[in-house]
Amino acid sequence: MDVLKDILTTIKAYETIIIHRHQRPDPDAIGSQVGLAELLRTSFPEKKIYQVGGPVEGLDFLATMDEVPDEYYEDALVIVTDTANSPRISDDRYKLGKQLIKIDHHPNDEPYGDLVWVNTNASSCSEIIVDFYHHNQSELTMNDEAARLLYAGIIGDTGRFLYPATTSHTLEVAAELMTYDFEPVDLNRELEQMPMKVAKLAGYVYQNIEVDENGAGKVILPQSLLDEYGIVDSETAAIVSLPGIIDEVLAWGIFVQQPEGYYRVRLRSKGPVINELAKKHHGGGHPLASGANAKDKAEVTVIYNEIQQLCKEYKK
Ligand code: AMP
Repeated sequence: MDVLKDILTTIKAYETIIIHRHQRPDPDAIGSQVGLAELLRTSFPEKKIYQVGGPVEGLDFLATMDEVPDEYYEDALVIVTDTANSPRISDDRYKLGKQLIKIDHHPNDEPYGDLVWVNTNASSCSEIIVDFYHHNQSELTMNDEAARLLYAGIIGDTGRFLYPATTSHTLEVAAELMTYDFEPVDLNRELEQMPMKVAKLAGYVYQNIEVDENGAGKVILPQSLLDEYGIVDSETAAIVSLPGIIDEVLAWGIFVQQPEGYYRVRLRSKGPVINELAKKHHGGGHPLASGANAKDKAEVTVIYNEIQQLCKEYKK
């Protein structure tokens, strides 16, 4: 079975296509979603293509979302990018379409959808949207805006080609995208820059990270601290990767308290696999980059103990 051809055949059969992505979007969620939308708009100008999912939390320099009424879903094909589990899909009207396609690069824990294409070897969902384009190149047209968005998704999810999921294929795809008319330097700068208040929070992270003898790191950001720095949850994205450059740190959790009181847990690792741990705490993700939730301080302690255990076993 050629799922990439089947996806294109299905796309061709619909007049209306609505594309979703995950909640709390990152550059790859937006890049793959709107990159695909742009690719389809240029290739099939007669179709109505929408990108939905609500506000994009500081990433509106990449793209903004469409507002669509429920009735648009009646005869629509729905495609969801970069989202492993259905509860994380932003805007649960994804269920209202006639057919559903899942395109993702996370472990396929929940193969929702009539057609499912998952490639966990890819650096990013944006990379596999480019693979979809290559596979069907005789019928699809790339444009500058799609290239800009897909490039942004790739640099976002690879930490600008730093993380281990980066392959020679990733670089080939990025090099090809760079031949289109957009400014990669500007894009990199926009993704990298942070407001002063976030830089100050970065200082707090380095000052206060707790690291055990096996490299298990922990930073707790209580709501009172976020209020003091004037920072909301979405602005913490810039500080999540920072502990990775510390020699002594092997795997770490950033525990961001939410206004409701629970903690959003952002897990990262340089070796020990952490996504099984994430799954035990209402989360999931990649082997070395996952997210979870802790209902209270006691669950934060449990999760940190589990990170410590994983680091200890890894070091053996
Ligand atoms: P984050 O820390 O939010 O940047 O997430 C890191 C990775 O884990 C991303 O690939 C997310 O898609 C995934 N992830 C984060 N939170 C969850 C969750 N609650 N359930 C499943 N996957 C998640």
